[in-house]
Amino acid sequence: MYYLGLDIGGTTIKAGLINEANRVLESRKVPTVIDDLGSLISKLTELIRDFQKSGSIDAVGIGVPGLRSTKTHVIATSPNIPCLTNINLEASVADQVHLKVVSENDANAGAYAEFICGAGTGMQHLAYLTLGTGLGSGLILNGSLYAGASGYGGEFGHTVIDPNGRLCACGRQGCVETVASGTGIVTTTRERLKIAPHSLLNEIAPPLTAEKIYEAAVRGDETAREVFAETGRWFGLACANLINLLNLEMIVIGGGVMASGEVLLGSAIEIARQHAFASSFADCQIVQSRLWPDAGMIGAALLARDR
Ligand SMILES: [Zn+2]
Repeated sequence: MYYLGLDIGGTTIKAGLINEANRVLESRKVPTVIDDLGSLISKLTELIRDFQKSGSIDAVGIGVPGLRSTKTHVIATSPNIPCLTNINLEASVADQVHLKVVSENDANAGAYAEFICGAGTGMQHLAYLTLGTGLGSGLILNGSLYAGASGYGGEFGHTVIDPNGRLCACGRQGCVETVASGTGIVTTTRERLKIAPHSLLNEIAPPLTAEKIYEAAVRGDETAREVFAETGRWFGLACANLINLLNLEMIVIGGGVMASGEVLLGSAIEIARQHAFASSFADCQIVQSRLWPDAGMIGAALLARDR
């Protein structure tokens, strides 16, 4: 039995064929379509048919960057891929390929993958956070993926920490992802550069990215190091809130920013320790993802198998 996982991101669609033992046998990446539903569905069906040449696929799982209703299976909101809004993607794809197709929020799929075969194997209560362009999150509570009343649960990145704060991709203001994310790192850097004329960052060719800022931090640039430390402090506060609210056993952190950020993780863990109850903090490991960048893809395939 094979299961295909598709993870639709803002720039690429990742696809991987998974076997019964949770192993990725084959994977591929293609560019995403964000503004034309017909083309996006064609691209997904082409990928599925391509993988069918490698083996008989039992079910397909699709990770989507948006809120999927557990009641109607419709994607209610998808800020980065607007053509998915108000679409039942799994039904549209199933109509084309005549296979079982399930969809799930991408970070929820990632959380499920870490729970089944990643850093959180054997845990009952964990949060999976992805520090990338935004701050994605999924929760495993009491040994199962937490959906909430209608599937929209676990959107921790949109916890408001400053009602007058920065504008968020979700359209509201002051969400924690506006400071604890790749986008947040770039904005914080721009603010600080106004008062740091000697920073190496002034010499970087545009566009400014979290990765370039990290490289400057590694080269010893003080402003860049301060930005990572500040981002880590916000992220640590977010972790402390999650730890106090849910008494988690583990927080698993993935995402492009985390892949390059020991400064950030160090400052996050220290702040989480200071702000969470000591007893709750002691119960909770904060670790890096084992499956990133494939967690969403793997989780989508596992959900297709298990749901
Ligand atoms: Zn938001």
